[in-house]
Amino acid sequence: MEFSQGLISAAYILAALLFIFSLSGLSKQQTAETGNWYGIVGMAIALIATIADPRVGNVWMIIVIMIVGATIGLKLAQKVEMTQMPELVAILHSFVGLAAVLVGFNSYFEMHHSVIVNITDSQQMATNIHLVEVFLGVFIGAVTFTGSIVAFGKLRGLINSAALMLPHRHKLNLAAGVVSFILMIMFVKQGGGDSTLYLLTFIALAFGWHLVASIGGADMPVVVSMLNSYSGWAAAAAGFMLNNDLLIVTGALVGSSGAILSYIMCKAMNRSFISVIAGGFGTDVVIDNDTDYGDHVETTAEAVADMLNGAKSVIITPGYGMAVAQAQYPVYKLTQALKDKGVDVRFAIHPVAGRLPGHMNVLLAEAKVPYDIVLGMEEINDDFAKTDVVLVIGANDTVNPAAAEDPTSPIAGMPVLEVWHAKNVVVFKRSMSTGYAGVQNPLFFKDNSQMLFGDAKDSVEAIFKAL
Ligand code: NDP
Repeated sequence: MEFSQGLISAAYILAALLFIFSLSGLSKQQTAETGNWYGIVGMAIALIATIADPRVGNVWMIIVIMIVGATIGLKLAQKVEMTQMPELVAILHSFVGLAAVLVGFNSYFEMHHSVIVNITDSQQMATNIHLVEVFLGVFIGAVTFTGSIVAFGKLRGLINSAALMLPHRHKLNLAAGVVSFILMIMFVKQGGGDSTLYLLTFIALAFGWHLVASIGGADMPVVVSMLNSYSGWAAAAAGFMLNNDLLIVTGALVGSSGAILSYIMCKAMNRSFISVIAGGFGTDVVIDNDTDYGDHVETTAEAVADMLNGAKSVIITPGYGMAVAQAQYPVYKLTQALKDKGVDVRFAIHPVAGRLPGHMNVLLAEAKVPYDIVLGMEEINDDFAKTDVVLVIGANDTVNPAAAEDPTSPIAGMPVLEVWHAKNVVVFKRSMSTGYAGVQNPLFFKDNSQMLFGDAKDSVEAIFKAL
């Protein structure tokens, strides 16, 4: 079945509109499922229209490749744990980057090998534009490719999550940018050049690697969303090279929504957006975990149950540990039991709690916790002082007072949930080890804090039993 160009354009416009509806739906929990459906239908229309394009040579080859890709994708998606989602997203971004590099090379060699004699001015202009497209596509694609691989390695624990501190690292980044720009001018002026393109690819691969390697663990959420944005721009560049309007629109949507998300996250973490894009921001601080904060106090599930029995208001702040322990289901049971006793129970969600934006909201929604008691940081931060008990379930960096009180801390300036203002704080974790940012947490040693050691799920179940 082949579509006419008019029909294909109409299908592309429809798909683009559905992608916009999808993004808008995904911005709220209540409409997220519908948003997902818009995206699925839009992508199905886009795929059918692309395959039905008369310019497509071997439809069967595309279908076979799609089946292989879809099977691998389905298997991965079924296997991956919610906590591994950022890793999956990072490695998928690397494929987008690699695809843009390959499209760039293919497009360049195709054009380079077709000899045109007596070239007119407008043809020369079109060739120059095409060379710039190739150059930018390969550059952005290569940066996205290696950057995403490093992000994957860091999130998976294959590469040390601490920032790589090469001497003169900012100058190295600047030099890579300047040299690439000069190479682009040479590339266009000379009407191409295989060795220039190879050199650019090498520089861009190294640049992408260094850019993400020099960013520390605590800033990884912004990096993942920034790479999301880069992968969108890489796809848009591929769209220009392939003359595919839908790819340009979709790439621009992904690129700009990723950039907006990075900006929002930077604001939430009090980081400068420009320095994130430049790589290695906020990492000049050396992590010092030798400070003596005094002793911590241990508690038991029974004692926490007693404390909760006497409480009027409780706030639960979940973090990555709740996701690891899959404690959201017993947490919901405990919430219900406390609510039945007339206790005011609410949840406080930090924008980067867990390992991806919205991670905690999804887990709590999965356990059927009502949306109206799940509040964002700004909505609830002033209420801690009026709260009897705060249960910190598997959260660490997101409740670290050092961010607010210690200007030398690597996470200084990052807004945190100010749980330490509450009357009592109970911290659920398995040991005294640090959180993702690798920084010690003075909260554990405060007079109003008690540590409940053990797997979060077991601890919450034990409290529920004791209640
Ligand atoms: P943290 O990583 O700071 O702390 C998690 C805590 O959970 C640890 O202290 C750990 O302590 C505890 N824990 C782990 N497993 C269990 C378990 N089974 N039972 C009980 N406790 C457990 O998590 P936060 O959510 O507070 O902060 C998120 C961090 O991750 C931030 O630094 C953020 O920048 C980073 N990040 C966030 C991303 C995002 O987009 N949200 C993406 C990538 C990184 P112990 O080992 O002692 O049990």
